[in-house]
Amino acid sequence: EAKCGGIVIKDEWPGYHLDLFTFPEHYSGDLECVYLPHGIIMDRTERLARDIMDDLGDHDIVVLCVLKGGYQFCADLVEYIKALSRNSNKSLLMRVDFIRLKSYLNDKSTEDLHIVGAEDLSVLNGKNVLIVEAIVDTGKTMKALLKHVETFKPKMVKVAGLLVKRVENAVGRSPDYVGFEIPNRFVVGYALDYNEYFRDLNHICVISESGKMKYKI
Ligand code: 5GP
Repeated sequence: EAKCGGIVIKDEWPGYHLDLFTFPEHYSGDLECVYLPHGIIMDRTERLARDIMDDLGDHDIVVLCVLKGGYQFCADLVEYIKALSRNSNKSLLMRVDFIRLKSYLNDKSTEDLHIVGAEDLSVLNGKNVLIVEAIVDTGKTMKALLKHVETFKPKMVKVAGLLVKRVENAVGRSPDYVGFEIPNRFVVGYALDYNEYFRDLNHICVISESGKMKYKI
């Protein structure tokens, strides 16, 4: 079970020119480049599903989707695991639960983590838990979430992160399943937002300065 940090995107990666792909007209001018096209996100997610199945197949798991940014990755990951469960001899019984966290304002991580909504995670007691998160930046959010989840005494906790940023002074453990390791740039799309915008964009993109201005609050 060799640990893999995911596909490494180098600091110099300029992304793809916007004209090479499609995206909603309402975001023209708001984006700098297509950083990770939707197709490669899906292909990498398919492989993560297989890795998860190899490690956890024939167990029961509770998938804990971290909202809001994680909804698309979680839905696609679950979809690929479902396909493996029906097309192979291994199967993974999944329950899916949700937790909503909030820690960002504009493009800055704020100090405190808010768990939004009434959170009765007692269903996690004694269970194998797979936390599914779209992006790990400083790691503070994941560290706080893991601490919170541990209080419910799960049997095992694994973490799947689509994106992990290369940052100095990262805290906590890195995810067990990583899609991509990316430079320290603010990205949007594939359910990742900037002040609630850009979730309706299928590629992961870098937002332009004018895009930041337009949706600043
Ligand atoms: P951390 O606590 O690891 O610094 O931050 C994690 C959270 O910050 C993520 O769950 C996500 O909500 C948000 N975040 C961090 N980097 C980005 C980014 O590049 N784009 C977006 N949209 N959100 C980010």
